[in-house]
Amino acid sequence: MNDRQPGLQTRAIHAGAPSPRIAGAVNVPIFQSSVFEQARAGAYHDIVYPRLSTTPTHLALGRKLAALEGADLAFATSSGMAAITTTLLCALGERGHLLLQDNTYGGTHWFAQHDLPRLGHSVTFFDATEQGGWERLLTAQTRAVYVEAMTNPLTKVADHAAVVAFAKAHGLLAIIDATFATPVNFRPLELGYDLVVHSATKYLNGHSDLAAGVVAGRREPTERVLHALNHFGGCLDAHACFLLDRGLKTLPLRMQKHNDNALQLARFLEDHAAIERVHYPGLPSHPHHDRARLLFSGCSGVLAVAIKGDGDDAEALMRRLSIAIVGPSLGGVETLVSRPAALSHMSLSPQERAALGIGDNLLRVSVGCEDIADLIEDFERALG
Ligand SMILES: *Cc1c(COP(=O)(O)O)cnc(C)c1O
Repeated sequence: MNDRQPGLQTRAIHAGAPSPRIAGAVNVPIFQSSVFEQARAGAYHDIVYPRLSTTPTHLALGRKLAALEGADLAFATSSGMAAITTTLLCALGERGHLLLQDNTYGGTHWFAQHDLPRLGHSVTFFDATEQGGWERLLTAQTRAVYVEAMTNPLTKVADHAAVVAFAKAHGLLAIIDATFATPVNFRPLELGYDLVVHSATKYLNGHSDLAAGVVAGRREPTERVLHALNHFGGCLDAHACFLLDRGLKTLPLRMQKHNDNALQLARFLEDHAAIERVHYPGLPSHPHHDRARLLFSGCSGVLAVAIKGDGDDAEALMRRLSIAIVGPSLGGVETLVSRPAALSHMSLSPQERAALGIGDNLLRVSVGCEDIADLIEDFERALG
């Protein structure tokens, strides 16, 4: 009896498929039905209904996601923000206190700063990259600690082992947004996180053609989030479930290419005379390089580049690229480039941006899966 778990690429292709296959179909069909005949009476959350994520299309996707994350339970949501807001509202209970990593995704930061307090919760922002002094931030109401695998756009890596140990020591739910890492590069549940959330809009789907989110984790907290989602209504449509399932089949293949391409482009840019600094955890010059090597099997495709020059120079450089597309978001097979000061972080004042280390001359690159020689040539010509 061989009980070795199949490898990640095998799981990405086969895990979660119904057995026997539905009418022999290799792909899980889209169950375009909002009503299913009820064979016998059962619990509310088990009724077959799209909003409850219980159609065969939803269940197969959930099983695949759980197999990839090493989770007891996983499910998809209508967007990354649906996964994040539902998870946080559920984790905080009544008048809860949240420890939130500073410098998280803009939507998460906004929700924590503006919406949670309005709903009676409180939030303290903390530096998750440096251990120490976290105890002083605890209150009697602290229920959860929330961090990201890597920050945007400077790719800082939190001290994840310390965050998990801190959460365990104080009975807090440890939650991580692992969008930038994906289960190919980092499986946070193995490290001791309780809940993982993703924007599946990014790498998990990988083709820049849908919005979706994921929640995965230990059974009990994940089931509570699912039951909250069942009432809040942020389920994923069956068509989008099908597309996400299809995208996931090539996730390990794609991540390998993102990892390799980003490392090679980062090395090329770091050596270029027109570049001031490259932020990529795969480079030995990155302050969290050793930590990233310990935690991650690859550093994914996002890197940030400070060019020698000002905002106008950075803007002009970006516009001279011909393969890389100027645009927001990340994680697709196509290379995307954006200027955080004028896009993701434009609502901050120049002083606030400077404090975060996000200068006007900083570009973020989401390195895609094109041939690396072409990407390097594209940047070389634009830097010219
Ligand atoms: C994009 C993103 C989100 C939000 O996801 P949506 O699918 O756009 O709702 C959350 N966290 C991170 C790290 C992201 O990059």
